Amino acid sequence: MHDVSISISKRLRDKVWRGLCLIMGVLAGILACWNILLSQGALTLALIEIALVIYSAYLYLNVKKWSGITWQQYGYVLLLSSIVVYAVWFRPLANALYVWPLFLPILNYLALGLRQGFVISITTLLIVLSILATKGFSESYHSIGPVLINFFFCYISIMGVSHIYERNRYRVEENLVSLALTDALTGLKNRLAFKQDFAEYMNDESPFGLMMIDIDHFKKVNDTYGHDVGDDLLHQLTQRITQSFPDADAYRQGGEEFCLLYRGDKASLVQQAELLRILIAKEAFVVGEQSIPVTVSLGVAAINEVSEPSHLVVLADQRMYLAKRQGRNCVVSEE
Ligand code: GH3
Ligand code: MG
Ligand code: MG
Repeated sequence: MHDVSISISKRLRDKVWRGLCLIMGVLAGILACWNILLSQGALTLALIEIALVIYSAYLYLNVKKWSGITWQQYGYVLLLSSIVVYAVWFRPLANALYVWPLFLPILNYLALGLRQGFVISITTLLIVLSILATKGFSESYHSIGPVLINFFFCYISIMGVSHIYERNRYRVEENLVSLALTDALTGLKNRLAFKQDFAEYMNDESPFGLMMIDIDHFKKVNDTYGHDVGDDLLHQLTQRITQSFPDADAYRQGGEEFCLLYRGDKASLVQQAELLRILIAKEAFVVGEQSIPVTVSLGVAAINEVSEPSHLVVLADQRMYLAKRQGRNCVVSEE
């Protein structure tokens, strides 16, 4: 089954990671050549950069196969941060290598997300500030004060923007996921959400079952009162179901068909279905001036009745159609 929320984040992170590995791999390759050919005494740095090229290529090729953020990815971010910190520590302050850590908050937030991005960025800030202060005094660098102040405020600004960006991205993603899983008319969860939840029910040990619910002669309601009234009725019916069965997961399967996933054995499932049928039939729905009596037909199936999980929906559906053939406004739970 397909999980929308996971797939959106996963695809985005994969793209960020592959882009990052490509850029860092090429950059590290160029810097390694530079250090080997032109910068005497920087051989250690060059070796670390070559290791980074290999690591980048490894991640680039594998990151799509992994789910979640793996230790290899954490290791990569730590390695990048260490290289930058090492370079700041290793080179004289006059070379201004302290501008490179400013890139790290962006990297941390994009690659690791909000919480880990925050923790690693703050840690890096404290380490770099300590190194700059120590070097400033040991190298008798006269303007270390302005360097520290400017570095600090610039780093915090970039980190702040990265934090706000990532937080908003999460929120937009949450809204998108919610839209993708919700039926616009009734506010119920939709078929896609049903597929996701069904997989979760399957992973759980406790018995559960499914009720398929179809409104009887709903076309006649639309033909008689109009589609707007039909829509209102669908909305009211949904509210009646969700308020009366808060423990069940209710979904709009499409059109005037609904279904309920319910934890419990077959006997309690049938009992709940019968209660639901009575709840809908006993009181007409009022839309504007109209009082519209509505009945539903229900098919019930329990998970222990099927050999394959996917057969549960088919079985409940078949029984719902049997309920239609038996005259509607009834529950069918056997062949
Ligand atoms: P049966 O008892 O056999 O289920 O009869 P029915 O009329 O309910 O079933 P049928 O499949 O013939 O018609 C379903 C109707 O549901 C047709 C369509 O106009 C209506 N419908 C489906 N989706 C919506 C919707 O979102 N809003 C409204 N107002 N009507 C809808
Ligand atoms: Mg119908
Ligand atoms: Mg139908």
